[in-house]
Amino acid sequence: MDGFILNKYTPVIGLEVHVQLSTLSKIFAADSAMFGDAPNSNVSVITLAHPGTLPKLNKKAVEFAIKMGLACNSEISRWQIFDRKNYFYPDLPKGYQITQDKTPICKGGYVTIKTSSGEKLNIVLNRIHLEEDAGKSIHLENEVDTLIDLNRAGVALIEIVTEPVIHTSEDASAFLAEVRKLARYLEICDGNMEEGSMRCDANVSIKLKDASELGKKVEVKNMNSLRNVQRAIDREIIRQIELLEKGEKVISETRTFDANTGLTHSMRTKEELNDYRYFPDPDLSPLKISDSWLESIKSSMPALPAQRSERYINELGLSEYDASVLTETKEIANYFEEVCLHTKNFKAASNWIMGPIKSFLNENGVEAEQFSIKPATIADIIGLIDEGKINFSIASKQLFPALLANSDKKVVELAKHLNLIQDSNVDSLSPIVDEVIAAFPEKVTEYKKGKKALLAMFMGEVMKRSKGKADPKVINELLFKKLQ
Ligand code: ADP
Ligand code: MG
Repeated sequence: MDGFILNKYTPVIGLEVHVQLSTLSKIFAADSAMFGDAPNSNVSVITLAHPGTLPKLNKKAVEFAIKMGLACNSEISRWQIFDRKNYFYPDLPKGYQITQDKTPICKGGYVTIKTSSGEKLNIVLNRIHLEEDAGKSIHLENEVDTLIDLNRAGVALIEIVTEPVIHTSEDASAFLAEVRKLARYLEICDGNMEEGSMRCDANVSIKLKDASELGKKVEVKNMNSLRNVQRAIDREIIRQIELLEKGEKVISETRTFDANTGLTHSMRTKEELNDYRYFPDPDLSPLKISDSWLESIKSSMPALPAQRSERYINELGLSEYDASVLTETKEIANYFEEVCLHTKNFKAASNWIMGPIKSFLNENGVEAEQFSIKPATIADIIGLIDEGKINFSIASKQLFPALLANSDKKVVELAKHLNLIQDSNVDSLSPIVDEVIAAFPEKVTEYKKGKKALLAMFMGEVMKRSKGKADPKVINELLFKKLQ
């Protein structure tokens, strides 16, 4: 679309993110909440809403919601009720969903993201509330019947609702990535969008740049990855601008995203929207959160990525980029911090993790927790390099793979055993340097005439002939002297 036309409008986006809590049991029943179990195997009379059954609140779910609220700088509500949201749900036998309408467990707050231009931006939240999930209807291809799996019915969710303050699909995606990172740090959800443990509805509207009032919003559903959320929002922005440019109106509706075509299709319009007739669930007593409970939850929180990042930059002297890569997951950050308990060369620790270690983990699909080389061993390698006993290239290409296969071996012993210890001995290196100088008389002349860049070529040649084991510092000095 014409950039001039795009420029007339400001997109406005608000997200509703459902995060499935990884509690062992459901939010109001003792049924297992395990994902992937045989269909309808975790379905008790409570999930089936048999008459006379009563819900009982899962304390862990409340704790998880509070943790997320604290991580998002929200106000934690100290008194709240649960509400019934009435609707015909084919996959929720009660005929209503238990949720929190007027008294969400967390109010306000914000999540800090980095925009594509590298600036920090706080995405303001409206609320985070607790609710139960619905079951899953499975529509088979070429079949008239629909199958129903009620295992998910009653599984604990939090819904994180932002204010309509996001203006680009990139920021929306960055927000989701940040929420997912927090959920994983807090260990309240695996954040897997493909499996549906984290789901996002995007509300999108368009307004003229200077308009103070927001436009009519469209809710887009059914995106199962960050990339698809971004695609769906971009598509929706274009579709709405095209409507307005044609002189037509955007109507409030719910649309579904088709990942194959990249298009959105109408599911239902606002006129068809239900009145959910919310009212307090009389089967559940109000939930009070005591000071001592809140304090104990606070003290059980791990250090979060933002805090760690700041410490890495301010106390360990790392760059912002290094800090952001190292805090991408809690496991990597923990590993890094443990290496730093054994070395003062924090930059080298960071380089080792961002380089050889991360490559190995990525290439082999290994999690940081399963990584066989101990942090102290990495610190030992760093020490060896800093003492000039081995160079980084040999350490990463030969010693590191050897340690992967012999993780119980001592670094120095293994390096000696593999004959990797660097040669810093002037007496043994001097003849090699002489040899190289004799082998390239023309280059030597050029060098002497002023082509100083040739030093690197001589250096490389000495390295090659010493099988990579020569100490670069010593060769450098020898070459310099002998080429005078
Ligand atoms: P509803 O009552 O239709 O559910 P809410 O006010 O609860 O609407 O908001 C639901 C979500 O829609 C929130 O994430 C909010 O930020 C977003 N939203 C509200 N109005 C707009 C708008 N005009 N454009 C884009 N998003 C919006
Ligand atoms: Mg709403």
